[in-house]
Amino acid sequence: MTRIASHRGGTLEFGDSTPAGFLATSKMELEEVEFDVHPTRDGQIVVHHDPTLDRTTDRSGTIATMTASEVLAASIQSGQGGNPLLLEELCALYAESHVVFRCEIKPGVDGRPYRDFVPRVVEALTECGRLSTSRFSSFQVESLDAIAQACDRPRLWLVSPAILEKWDIAKVIEIARSHQIPELGIHVDLVTVELMAQVNASGLELGCWAAHSVEQIDKALDLEVKVFTTDRPSLAIERRKLRQPAIAEEVRS
Ligand code: FE
Repeated sequence: MTRIASHRGGTLEFGDSTPAGFLATSKMELEEVEFDVHPTRDGQIVVHHDPTLDRTTDRSGTIATMTASEVLAASIQSGQGGNPLLLEELCALYAESHVVFRCEIKPGVDGRPYRDFVPRVVEALTECGRLSTSRFSSFQVESLDAIAQACDRPRLWLVSPAILEKWDIAKVIEIARSHQIPELGIHVDLVTVELMAQVNASGLELGCWAAHSVEQIDKALDLEVKVFTTDRPSLAIERRKLRQPAIAEEVRS
């Protein structure tokens, strides 16, 4: 069965990386919650998509240059709002949840990985007792290498459309293999049957990201990719349920 990952706690349903979205996702019939992390100046880890507060909150500033209390004073301007969460607060929200973490290691405002950040994220998840139910993703191969050095949890490479255009899928597969990356995440609109066959033939697994519309969600389900992220988790669950009888039939025949 194709796994569903609620992207940033279901941005189109609950706002971008909001406490309400993460809480709702923790109780849903899906497998993963996707979120992004950034360090604060005073050594805390914040769950937020952008490296700055500017786009999605009532404050401005670069998270990595602010203290955690400065960041947590911001109010998210979408969904039910609320303040950005610390990673440990997200862990507390998921203490009783069956949903596993899909933690994306983000770079800083300059697009470069934060120095020595990955080991701190791994340590924080370990302290919360969540590491064994966490997997990791990143657009940066350097960060994926750092994850492999810090722990043995699953990791996947989010391949940007620009990278896929610059190199073809064969080159992407070659790079993934040379870094022992077992899984690729590709924008749902760029996945084709041929591309999927090529990835699977290479021994790598394939998931999609950005499946937000009915058409995109159905495409990911029909292709039976391993997992897809979606800003509309309730819709994705509904679409998967509609398709389950067909999948069950196929398995029987
Ligand atoms: Fe992300």
